[in-house]
Amino acid sequence: MKYRKLKGVQDILPPDISVWQFIEEKARKIFRSYGYREIRLPIMESTDVFIRSIGETSDIVEKEMYTFKDKGDRSITLRPEGTAPFVRAYIENHLNNEPAPQKYYYMGPMFRYERPQANRYRQFYQIGAEAMGIDDPKLDAEIISMLSLILEAVGLKGLNFEITSIGCKECRPDYIKALKDFLEDKMLDFCSDCGRRFKTNPLRVLDCKVPGCVKAKKGSPPVVDYLCKDCGDHFDQLKNNLNRLNVPHTINPNLVRGLDYYTKTAFEVSSENLGSQSAVAAGGRYDGMVKEFGGPATPGIGFAIGMERIIPLIKDSLETTDGPELYICPLGNEAAEEALRIAEQLRAKGRWVEVNYDNTSIRSQMRKANKINAKNVIVLGDDELKNRKVTIKNMGSKDEEIVDLVINEYHKLIQSGK
Ligand SMILES: [Zn+2]
Ligand SMILES: [Zn+2]
Repeated sequence: MKYRKLKGVQDILPPDISVWQFIEEKARKIFRSYGYREIRLPIMESTDVFIRSIGETSDIVEKEMYTFKDKGDRSITLRPEGTAPFVRAYIENHLNNEPAPQKYYYMGPMFRYERPQANRYRQFYQIGAEAMGIDDPKLDAEIISMLSLILEAVGLKGLNFEITSIGCKECRPDYIKALKDFLEDKMLDFCSDCGRRFKTNPLRVLDCKVPGCVKAKKGSPPVVDYLCKDCGDHFDQLKNNLNRLNVPHTINPNLVRGLDYYTKTAFEVSSENLGSQSAVAAGGRYDGMVKEFGGPATPGIGFAIGMERIIPLIKDSLETTDGPELYICPLGNEAAEEALRIAEQLRAKGRWVEVNYDNTSIRSQMRKANKINAKNVIVLGDDELKNRKVTIKNMGSKDEEIVDLVINEYHKLIQSGK
């Protein structure tokens, strides 16, 4: 074998693809009922779209971006996440001129140069949603409720919704100071990354999964204790609204998302069935980002679902054996031509019909029908053509029924689910 796929990427093939489509269809339907419209954005952007928004000192920007120079010597980055490109597009296309909230969703690949491990890929897929122009915490509750509805609709169970507020630019400095005071005398226990993070962006220390750092930061001051009045009220209203909407949630004061742009509401959904890499979706509010990008001050909130995280959790419970509704086994040339004609007419009616091209025995044609999970089979030979009648056999129940050799008869039979 001469060519192999790159490390950390995957080929997604049938029958797995039906699980992907199932999730995408469920999500689209729910997005529609909430008024979210799809957008498709480029996979590559100018590198500077990501640097300040995600944060110069974040792991993503420091270590994980696929960045390269194109032939025009521009620095290009394959998007590591969806929100920064969305905000770029929001401003560039003047989407803020539409009535607020402006609600969008996207589906597609993201790229991060990470160590490949179970359910983690360097090209990974997200379904994301963004709602712009409203800072009312009812919108936060609504978008979290929508996320919960999507995850439930695809069959996920045992989910834990963790929420917090990480404050705003008014109150965050107080928190960072308190955090620094707390961490200062524990610096000797930090990993080398955290030693550096302590100086550049101490919030990042809270993201670190290195055991020594996890231990050292135990008991650190909870961010929710340092919220200003505005942020505190916002958070209280969010909690009240989530209760009113019956969205179960827990408050995790130590939840800090690995991106710099979040303000106020932040949330993460994890599954008890996924071990240490347990987050299946995450999101938050980013009220300062549009202005930071040079646009009009506009609040925003969004989330992203990790496809590769949820697929292993639901795959086994989904029926993925798909097959044609009708399989036609012709015997002889004349029958083969008639088979093609029947197939074309049924396909025009939207039925999935396959014709055997092998010109072999009935037995081997039937074996093939079985292999591709055909639901119904007809054998078309000289007798059938002469009498204008065929036997349609249901491959599941083994029931047989004789019908006229007329398209509408098959159409009716297949449609009735027989
Ligand atoms: Zn605040
Ligand atoms: Zn560390």
